[in-house]
Amino acid sequence: MSCSNEIPYLSPISCYSRASSSSETELSMHFSSKSFDGLTPFLNKMLAKHANQKLKLQDSNHLPGYLLLQPDMINHLVSTYFTCYNLISPMVHQKLFMERYLLLENPLDDLMTLYICNRVCGFLCNHIHFTPHDGKAMADYFFEKAYNMILDQFDVPEKRLENVMSINMLSSYMSANFKHKEGDELVAIAYQICLDLKNEFKDPPQTPSYKYQVDYALFTRHITITMSLRGLLNGLFDRPMDESFHFNSEWVAVDDEPEETKRVIRIQNWFGSFFSHSYIQQFMVNLHILVFP
Ligand SMILES: [Zn+2]
Repeated sequence: MSCSNEIPYLSPISCYSRASSSSETELSMHFSSKSFDGLTPFLNKMLAKHANQKLKLQDSNHLPGYLLLQPDMINHLVSTYFTCYNLISPMVHQKLFMERYLLLENPLDDLMTLYICNRVCGFLCNHIHFTPHDGKAMADYFFEKAYNMILDQFDVPEKRLENVMSINMLSSYMSANFKHKEGDELVAIAYQICLDLKNEFKDPPQTPSYKYQVDYALFTRHITITMSLRGLLNGLFDRPMDESFHFNSEWVAVDDEPEETKRVIRIQNWFGSFFSHSYIQQFMVNLHILVFP
């Protein structure tokens, strides 16, 4: 296996050390109800900007059509993702995803497929024989489609977890391509959705269904990543840290996941408990004061 994949969230310092901020209460919104009327001024502004940006993205889109038209290209990208990326960066549950994927009429209309393809094309491994130029063009193409799709469905209650997952998955690409502003906007959405979802996952059913178990396992991972990204972006944009909220962010594995994935989850949890220790937290606070007096 040869991979260029990285696991930036294996040092989740930012998600375990937060000072208080009152600004979050202004942004809080809830996606639980079927009708959504919780638009904040922040999101209104963002969506208005998105309407213009959507046109701009389409204008600047140089789709490498000859690559997309190759038979089985999307299948190849998806299978490469699960061979080389998801094992050690388990952002997607393979079995549940593949069951759904195989029923899709057009995978390019599916957000999860788009961010998987973006991930593979944006960080090429030895199984993908694109030139760097074509890889970049493909990653751009998948990103633009996924980005527009997230903003179109960010307020759909049933899509909350999918939106958080896709934003986290696209974050590496946005960071590598200096799209920090877009990344910040999307992570703000993911952060709000996580606040909403954590209330739902707080009280699990007595006999959770298989889908619930998978969703919960994915949520434990993605909320950690979202909080970590949020902390990094707060630092980057010189904002106060968010108020800490109490959620057990220990990653959970599903029984049918590969042994490599379970090992990664054990390592992640070790890092999590290490950085949540009161001594380490105090050390990080002192370090922050030292670096940013
Ligand atoms: Zn590979």
